[in-house]
Amino acid sequence: MMRIGIDLGGTKIEGLALADDGRELERRRIPAPRGRYDDSIRAVADLVFAIEATVNGRGSIGVGIPGAISPATGLIKNANSTWLNGHHLADDLSAAIGRPVRLANDANCFTLSEATDGAAAGAPVVFGVIIGTGTGGGLVVNGRIVVGANAIAGEWGHNPLPAPEDDERPGPPCYCGRSGCIETFLSGPALARDYIALGGDDLSAADVAERAAAGDSRAMKCLERYERRFARAIASIINVVDPDVIVMGGGLSNLARLYERVPAMWAPYVFSDRVDTRLVRAKHGDASGVRGAAWLWPPATSS
Ligand SMILES: [Zn+2]
Repeated sequence: MMRIGIDLGGTKIEGLALADDGRELERRRIPAPRGRYDDSIRAVADLVFAIEATVNGRGSIGVGIPGAISPATGLIKNANSTWLNGHHLADDLSAAIGRPVRLANDANCFTLSEATDGAAAGAPVVFGVIIGTGTGGGLVVNGRIVVGANAIAGEWGHNPLPAPEDDERPGPPCYCGRSGCIETFLSGPALARDYIALGGDDLSAADVAERAAAGDSRAMKCLERYERRFARAIASIINVVDPDVIVMGGGLSNLARLYERVPAMWAPYVFSDRVDTRLVRAKHGDASGVRGAAWLWPPATSS
């Protein structure tokens, strides 16, 4: 069985075909028709047909989107590609392509990819976090995405930062209307802002990490503070979901020191005498979104 995955982003649309064993057969990327819904439908359908012509096969279709399907109405909501909101996207894609189409949030697709044949392969409970300009998340249990009653399962970024210290209250204002959200402390821009607050230059998160590795004490202080916050934020997830694996993607997942230092800090905040949860970096990197979309048609279970 061939699977086609589509990552319907705001600036580009990526598509790939996966063989049954997860091997990549073909991958293509086109610019997204920004702002135009009907053209977006047409572009996805044409991309599917072009991929199928190249590999000379027909696949199942899964699509990752930067938003959610409202369980109440079936319409797209919360997409920052706002021209998708309020539409019956799955039905319209299905009509254009001529077969059933499965849709899921892109962070959920990321988590599904890593849980299927990535860094969390075989783990029963997987929590995925994507930290870049924002803080997304997804939850996969026994190889299936947990969507939730409001289609927000895994969205940890707009919870308040747990156990805030005096200088973390009320915390920075967030676009969601509250202050002190996890995202305002852990996103890439938040880390850069914190380095400036400590008297440092305006640098990217990667550059702050480079300075810390070179022994810059201000950068080290900034990253230690970041890691303590990360540990508190993720410990509250461990207490509720108790994942076997937390898999990290997005730009900040390239900070190699996080995978040792954050687990070394989270124990005091986890309600357990020991913590066996593993924090790992995504195996498929940026390709996980589009791979997870393909895996919306899951592998046959052999049991
Ligand atoms: Zn918020």
